[in-house]
Amino acid sequence: MAKWVVASAWPYVNNVPHLGNLIGSILSADVFARYLRLRGEDVVFVSGSDEHGTPIEIEAIKRGVHPKELTDQAHEYVSKLFQEYMISFDNYTRTESETHKRFVQGFFMRLYENGYIFDQYDTLPYCPRDKMFLPDRFVVGTCPYCGYPKAHGDQCDNCGRLLHPTELINPRCAICGGPVEFRKTRHWFFDLPKLQGRILEWLKNSSLPANVKNYSLNWVAEGLKPRSVTRDNKWGIPAPFPGAEGKTIYVWFEALLGYISATIEYFEKLGEPDRWKTYWFDQETKTVYFIGKDNIPFHAIIFPAMLMASGEPYTLPWYISATEYLMYEGEQFSKSRRHGIWIDEALELLPADYWRFALIKMRPETKDTNFTWEEFYRIVNSDMNDDIGNYVHRVLKFLYSRFNATVPEPGPATREDEEFMEYYTTAPDRVAKHLESFRLKQALEEVIELARRGNQYLNARAPWEKAKMAPAEAATIMYNAVNSVATLAVLLAPFVPAAADRLWRMLGLEGTVHRAGVWLEAKKPLLKPGHRISRPEPLFSKLPPDFAEKAEAMIAEARRRVMEKRPPLLRWQ
Ligand SMILES: [Zn+2]
Ligand SMILES: [Zn+2]
Repeated sequence: MAKWVVASAWPYVNNVPHLGNLIGSILSADVFARYLRLRGEDVVFVSGSDEHGTPIEIEAIKRGVHPKELTDQAHEYVSKLFQEYMISFDNYTRTESETHKRFVQGFFMRLYENGYIFDQYDTLPYCPRDKMFLPDRFVVGTCPYCGYPKAHGDQCDNCGRLLHPTELINPRCAICGGPVEFRKTRHWFFDLPKLQGRILEWLKNSSLPANVKNYSLNWVAEGLKPRSVTRDNKWGIPAPFPGAEGKTIYVWFEALLGYISATIEYFEKLGEPDRWKTYWFDQETKTVYFIGKDNIPFHAIIFPAMLMASGEPYTLPWYISATEYLMYEGEQFSKSRRHGIWIDEALELLPADYWRFALIKMRPETKDTNFTWEEFYRIVNSDMNDDIGNYVHRVLKFLYSRFNATVPEPGPATREDEEFMEYYTTAPDRVAKHLESFRLKQALEEVIELARRGNQYLNARAPWEKAKMAPAEAATIMYNAVNSVATLAVLLAPFVPAAADRLWRMLGLEGTVHRAGVWLEAKKPLLKPGHRISRPEPLFSKLPPDFAEKAEAMIAEARRRVMEKRPPLLRWQ
């Protein structure tokens, strides 16, 4: 049996993730990991809080506290939210974990010893008042390309150009606001050009999807450049290279290594400190990364290059599922404009299953998609309630009241009965095919389609008309109908884990639907004649007709409530 490592991009914890962040990496990864486990596959699902680096260090300096004080609380808050969204991480850790810090330092020393790290002097901004170099976002100035007055040392947020801090017009210190000096300082670089040939060869032969592969091949074709891996930040992992005292490892490089260190930490906690190697050092292990499209170069070029340079037998990325962007009512999510929905606010309105379901339906798989309240309303009321909830309730209520809550012995089957049985017993394979091609949206569409077909089957076969005159025929119909509902419970499990489990219990089944192998069992009718179901209850609730109009106001109210619960770093001024 193949092993899997499912990884989702590490959220930077100076913000609560918004709905676009959730579907872009974490929720998509969770659906996939849950599916694999239901098949009985061997999976480790990891992620963690990315907490080092400039934005949080600046916040801490401004507030006069140690950055870890801020990220301890932020990490706890965000971790709890992921639990509420039922994200089934095997390990959700953080970049301050001792295992991570130790691993990153050891890993970079290997790159150094293998000749992939060199040092060089660079001219960088320095603040004589704060007595420090000003990396990346520590320096603010006017963009030389578009004239935006608040461009940073690494990038202009207005035109998106990557910048070197010496290009900024009128550069100022982001801490004290004063003018900066430029001084020479030594930095350490990852020698990517040395790996150009190997990366190109690997990319060409890799199993990465076309969008990721083509983007990366273009990047490599332009020629790989050395990347600076050290920063003058204090808040980070100390760079281990001789002569690099006082420097830290650039956050991007260490966060990528978190996929490995989180696996190590997971097995350390289980008391098997070396078992991580049976995943990461096995070329048969399938590693799958769920990320936003802006992170492609780091995952498809820099990360595999680092793994190659280590000289250890790491398995390289097997698949990278890179989503496009989710927009909110036609525009990008923006904290500064307060435009969007953040995941703690969303839970004030509705339970997690509703958001999970709707976000998968809106997943930006091939192009940017738009979250609108109207579409959310339609998905909840039509897909979740009219199709799935209604079908489940019709079947269970009728079985409960007219068949003494008992699955009947099926009688003779008509062609329609046989076709429907064929349809629901093959549904697990159809949904699986989409999931394994990372088309999560179509996979969910296929699940909804099972409920639609079920409703059509009931309408066409009308068991309520046959119960008295043709009980054997009615028994066949209800045997099929209730078994298709059991299949539905299994197929819903990766998407709406709480509702799927509720349905499982309504069906009178033992334990939980979230059980290894159940996906394959659902390729045959799960319920035997004589099995008794429990009292049915509605699976989902409908939204009131004026929901879409009132949603903005409800979110504004929710925002006021969550702001009081958030720790200082995550609170908006
Ligand atoms: Zn600009
Ligand atoms: Zn300053």
